[in-house]
Amino acid sequence: MFLQEPSFGRELKLAEYSSDLVVVGGGLAGVCAAISAARSGLQVALIQDRPVLGGNSSSEVRLWILGATSHMGNNNRWARESGVINEIMVENLFANKEGNPIIFDSILLDKVRKESNISLFLNTSIYHVEKADADTISSVVGYCSQNETKYKFSSSLFVDCSGDGIVGFLSGAAFRMGAESQDEFGEKFAPSIEYGELLGHSIYFYSKDTGQPVKYVAPSFAIDVSKEIPRYKSFNSQDFGCRLWWIEYGGRKDTIHDTEEIKWELWKIVYGVWNHIKNSGEFPDAENLTLEWVGMIPGKRESRRFEGDYMMVQQDIVEQRKHSDAVAFGGWSIDLHPGDGVFSEKPGCNQWHSKGLYQVPYRSLYSKNISNLFFAGRIISASHVAFGSTRVMATSAYLGQVVGHAAYLCLLKKCKPRDLYTKNHMEELQLYLAKNGQFIPDFHPIDNKNLINSARIEASSQLQLSILEGNNDWKYLDESIGQLLPIKAGKIPDIKLTVFGVENTILNTEVRLSSKVGNFTPDQTLSNQSHIIVSGKNEISIHSDAILEADQYVFFIIHKNSNVKIEFTETRITGILSVFNTVNAAVSNYGKQDAPDNIGIDSFEFWVPKRRPDGKNLALQISEPLHQFNTSNLTGLIQRPTNQTNAWVADLNDDCPVIRINWDNKQEIKQIILCFDPDWDHPLETVLINHPESVIPFTVQDYTICDDEGILVFEKSGNYETINNIRFENSINTRELVIRLKKSNTNIPVSLFSIQIY
Ligand SMILES: Cc1cc2nc3c(=O)[nH]c(=O)nc-3n(C[C@H](O)[C@H](O)[C@H](O)COP(=O)(O)OP(=O)(O)OC[C@H]3O[C@@H](n4cnc5c(N)ncnc54)[C@H](O)[C@@H]3O)c2cc1C
Repeated sequence: MFLQEPSFGRELKLAEYSSDLVVVGGGLAGVCAAISAARSGLQVALIQDRPVLGGNSSSEVRLWILGATSHMGNNNRWARESGVINEIMVENLFANKEGNPIIFDSILLDKVRKESNISLFLNTSIYHVEKADADTISSVVGYCSQNETKYKFSSSLFVDCSGDGIVGFLSGAAFRMGAESQDEFGEKFAPSIEYGELLGHSIYFYSKDTGQPVKYVAPSFAIDVSKEIPRYKSFNSQDFGCRLWWIEYGGRKDTIHDTEEIKWELWKIVYGVWNHIKNSGEFPDAENLTLEWVGMIPGKRESRRFEGDYMMVQQDIVEQRKHSDAVAFGGWSIDLHPGDGVFSEKPGCNQWHSKGLYQVPYRSLYSKNISNLFFAGRIISASHVAFGSTRVMATSAYLGQVVGHAAYLCLLKKCKPRDLYTKNHMEELQLYLAKNGQFIPDFHPIDNKNLINSARIEASSQLQLSILEGNNDWKYLDESIGQLLPIKAGKIPDIKLTVFGVENTILNTEVRLSSKVGNFTPDQTLSNQSHIIVSGKNEISIHSDAILEADQYVFFIIHKNSNVKIEFTETRITGILSVFNTVNAAVSNYGKQDAPDNIGIDSFEFWVPKRRPDGKNLALQISEPLHQFNTSNLTGLIQRPTNQTNAWVADLNDDCPVIRINWDNKQEIKQIILCFDPDWDHPLETVLINHPESVIPFTVQDYTICDDEGILVFEKSGNYETINNIRFENSINTRELVIRLKKSNTNIPVSLFSIQIY
């Protein structure tokens, strides 16, 4: 027995931790920051106030992780975020392609638990900050109600990924809340007070078919949505979870201190929506449905935004401004919502896309006045308008990775976050990021330490693309299609196709490209042709006399014509893609973006790919074979198609291609990193969408690596990961490495983006 005499009062148990880095907030930004730092060798304390990781992507809120690919609905090609967030998404696809949010929770927990350098503190809420001086945090203090313990976490560096910015707030970091006026940064899309200055919170529900009639009795606090919600007719029995993103409230409130009140309003709405679906009589197909889950905490979109040395603005996004300290990219639309949320007569969102990816500068990721504080996630230094784009979770996570690596460099250089910029360490940070898989648009990293740069590389084959064989798969040309092909500077080859005329007709084709090299918005027409088509098969040739000034993707476009059928191929190749001028209302793509003149946004057409099993390439012949799939691509650190494929691709008939890498002298090798193709176009949404495959079909699954004596040094089967990081316990000494890769899919040639050897 344990007996305590009465006392005047008692103290909580206190546990003290010291680490290289403290990350507050276990949303995706915090998780990716912690993992990146831990893998760089730092001891990290990751502190999360709730019982699971993931923040808004967790089973508590159930949002699908999105980023620059924007549900495949915009013109950002091959734009999914790489690094740790890609690893998480690919793992989720492998284990949970059906998008079960509970399984996603365990995937995140597992990722963090596998990192021995991370100490994870769940259910621990940070509420107090201690400072060494006016601009330096020395520790943060939290409380765990589960074990009645107070924790003190000390470090020289802190990352605030808490969404509301608790560490920044308590430490006195400069922040803003609400929208800037148009005048402050010249942002023409800055909203009026009447539209709303803050985005609100949301709560969702999941429903389930029980196979038998289920009655529903609503709680007394449920509202009558047919009377109170102008867009109530959009509710139906099939949509649930974050498809109902527009159940939003609180944009006119204090989105921090009024959160409990906002939550109650959202519960009134959610139960009211379910009552409407079950009991209004309008949805007979809802008879067997029951309410399976309702969110207990609201997903928060916006509250504080902290000020760094640079504040991102609308023009950074729309004009794709370049920054010498670029460390990441974004690509979601600028996505603002009316302040009245679900009670507004206005559309639930106002989304405007840019023509391509934009850079995120390092200076937006640390506090301008607290010297040892990084930010990642939705609280980075961005105006309300720019935040409209940077806030999505894949972008947030991508920025988390940056600060994780930057913290490592700070400790290495014994400096503060700002010093990495002011003392010219940016190139080092950028290279370090690139070596760890981070893609930074318009940045061309060169890694002198990569031994592949001094090697001869031979492959058993490399694709010379001159034909995409048809598979007798003819489809009506009921939407305009563009075949994207990577073309070298100089003359553009002709494309020959067979089309089938259902009736005599005129078929219009164009050759287009993007006015900015590296974008995929085909806003520049090089040629257009009208082809006379008669009934039956016709050969057409798409031609342009234009000379390309730079290596670039070219769009060979065939405009829709319901009297014509075109043939597709089953062959899919890394860096070769078909796109369609089509609609994706989920991301405000109505075929064309028609922006009003006065809001500083471009107007252009959308040409977007389709999800497998659709989205096949056109059957065609190319007058000059494309040689852009050479082994020389393997030496670079750009691991996705940009203005070129950046990939080595084997011949389609080479079932087990061999890459030989050799040097004049023996090399001591400790590590080999291979980067396979994870289909950077596929958004890999984490919930609600049932994906067609659990392993990306472009990713090589089986391969071996041998040394110069033919001895097997590494073997992998059943690979599904993008980056294979192979570390040898004892370094190997060899003059040659022989990599044998097995083709996994009959219609997809083997490919590889890069090989790093150290
Ligand atoms: C309703 C809604 C719909 C959205 N739609 C999408 C979408 O479809 N796709 C998309 O990608 N993005 C979407 N977003 C945006 C996105 O979810 C957020 O911007 C994003 O979650 C921000 O990431 P974060 O890591 O900064 O914050 P969060 O995901 O909020 O993570 C912050 C974490 O910090 C923890 N925390 C907070 N305070 C403390 C404390 N004192 N101590 C310890 N831990 C703390 C929280 O528990 C949380 O886990 C949406 C947002 C909302 C609310």
